[in-house]
Amino acid sequence: MTPISLEFFPPKTDEQRATLEAALPKLKALKPDYVSVTFGAGGSTLAYTPQIVRHLRATHALDAAPHVSCMGGTRAEIRQLLDEYKAMGCKRIVALRGDMPSGMAGYGDFRYASELVEFIRRECDGFFHIEVACYPEMHPQAGDAHMDLKNFAAKVAAGANGAITQYFYNPDAYFRFVDEARKHGIQIPIVPGVMPISQYAQLRRFSDLCGAEIPRWIAKRLEAFRDDIDAIREFGADVVADLCRKLIAGGAPGIHFYTLNRARATLAVCERL
Ligand code: FAD
Repeated sequence: MTPISLEFFPPKTDEQRATLEAALPKLKALKPDYVSVTFGAGGSTLAYTPQIVRHLRATHALDAAPHVSCMGGTRAEIRQLLDEYKAMGCKRIVALRGDMPSGMAGYGDFRYASELVEFIRRECDGFFHIEVACYPEMHPQAGDAHMDLKNFAAKVAAGANGAITQYFYNPDAYFRFVDEARKHGIQIPIVPGVMPISQYAQLRRFSDLCGAEIPRWIAKRLEAFRDDIDAIREFGADVVADLCRKLIAGGAPGIHFYTLNRARATLAVCERL
């Protein structure tokens, strides 16, 4: 069985908390290898990730791994955060640069994820298993795909143990990327990140921001369904399950689902698998 992991974002309102609580029992039935919790960017949102990680571990007995980004502040602040996660029993961390939120003045002490990985490695020796992000369709700010791959290699050289990709809908992008990574001497597992489809407008928005391509044939069909949510869900689950089948058949070491804190779309894909 291919291991799966599930990604959540930290809920901020009572309504968001209720949505996540409702989704958790259903998603737990998938027996995820671990779950991860994204990192908000700056200010009061910093406290949400540790809160939810603690909750998922203590109340739901899930192996919850925090995302930590360079937006987490100074060396001292990140050291404190790492100590907090150690005390909770977390052994895995997803280390990222993060994106600068509008209105935020500057990065913390680290400019790139590779610097954060190096810091975590140095501070905590081998304590944490460190995952990093990578981009089969290239990070939108990278000069070119070759540079992006070299920058990915720098994160591995700094001590990353595994990588999770940005989502994509073209399996060839993943397979080609993994091949090129191997040619660059990158030997760590590269787990595809998969975004189930439950609606179009939001997916379009996310994809434009993060540089993930929605192939034309998928976009055109989703557009044609307009407000027919059921049709979008059915089609989306078929497409994403097919993608996962190809990834698994091609040797993907796991699947990381971006759940957006909802069960339905992820479950629909897993049921088809
Ligand atoms: P980096 O690896 O630092 O790369 C960022 C850019 O800089 C790339 O274009 C890279 O090519 C370039 N670069 C790297 N090193 C150098 C260098 N030395 N010189 C010049 N250029 C360089 N965001 C959040 O805010 N919170 C989250 O929890 C979160 N979770 C994520 C989880 C996954 C699996 C993924 C794929 C993304 C996640 N993101 C999250 C989004 C991520 O923070 C953004 O994509 C961000 O823009 C890049 O982060 P990174 O860690 O890949 O950065």
